[in-house]
Amino acid sequence: MKYAETVLDLVGNTPLVKLNKVTEGIAATVLAKIEYLNPGGSSKDRIATRIIDAAERDGFLKPGGTIVEPTSGNTGVGLALVAQQRGYRCVFVLPDKVGEDKRSVLLAYGAEIVVTPTAVAPDHPDSYYSVSDRLAREIPGAFKPNQYSNPNGPLSHYESTGPEIWRDTDGRITHFVAGVGTGGTISGTGKYLKEVSDGRVQVIGADPEGSVYSGGTGRPYLVEGVGEDFWPAAYDPTVVDQIIASSDAESFEMTRRLAREEGLLVGGSSGLAVSVALKAAANLPADAIVVVLLPDSGRGYLGKIFNEKWMRSYGFSPELTESTVRDVLG
Ligand code: PMP
Repeated sequence: MKYAETVLDLVGNTPLVKLNKVTEGIAATVLAKIEYLNPGGSSKDRIATRIIDAAERDGFLKPGGTIVEPTSGNTGVGLALVAQQRGYRCVFVLPDKVGEDKRSVLLAYGAEIVVTPTAVAPDHPDSYYSVSDRLAREIPGAFKPNQYSNPNGPLSHYESTGPEIWRDTDGRITHFVAGVGTGGTISGTGKYLKEVSDGRVQVIGADPEGSVYSGGTGRPYLVEGVGEDFWPAAYDPTVVDQIIASSDAESFEMTRRLAREEGLLVGGSSGLAVSVALKAAANLPADAIVVVLLPDSGRGYLGKIFNEKWMRSYGFSPELTESTVRDVLG
């Protein structure tokens, strides 16, 4: 019989698939790593087990303890999966720009959520960082994984994502592209790929226009899970060769094209990453092999990026199909 002992054993070993339509006119091979095939639906499943194992080992998390974390949703799902298996309570703090669908998923896994305003500075008492700090102090037995500074985040990618990509490309990868949120994915995966290739693999960060990584101040943008208004410790700038920005409009258009043309129903940060990967690949030769990581599924964004009314309410103009014309114009 072939089966996994628990759902946590299904984390990682996600496949690569070649992009064929959105890459028209590009000579290089562009391969997408499909992280929504993790059991919790995102790349964040990878960091959760490693962070909780380390917290148990170091005595930060004891039986009956509570996990408190600010998370845009995906880290929460990963942590909720592990917590469920090991009997911990979870309280997650979310900015209000996170959609209803993502909130419902966390509740479905048995977690509790606290929603905070997006439009306040990180040091404001109502910001999602401040609220999670306060809850972590006030709840007895609370442990805050702090994905923004916990070294086990990047380490999990160093130990799993990086080796998987190297193995599946037979060591032929030339460029790695990933969105930057906490920076854990790009720092851990990038570090491994740099080391194993003697510095040959180029590491490119995808950033929403306005975020600090591409020189902005953190002005609000709508793509979720990527970009920051501060420099997290989980981000290692020495690993990243280049940061390329894309606008919300470019990211969302690519997200919609990935569903319609490549059969990949993915989230907005995946659209961002692919849009940046194509900018990077545009001038590369035919023997270049670009791997772009797609962090999560589009199911959490059906009411937003894939909803014409929502898109139009923010000034985006997605191409209309016959059914959506009826939906939008009545
Ligand atoms: N995309 C989504 C949807 C995410 O939730 C995250 C995590 N914040 C990222 C991309 C970025 O990953 P990382 O935090 O490892 O930089």
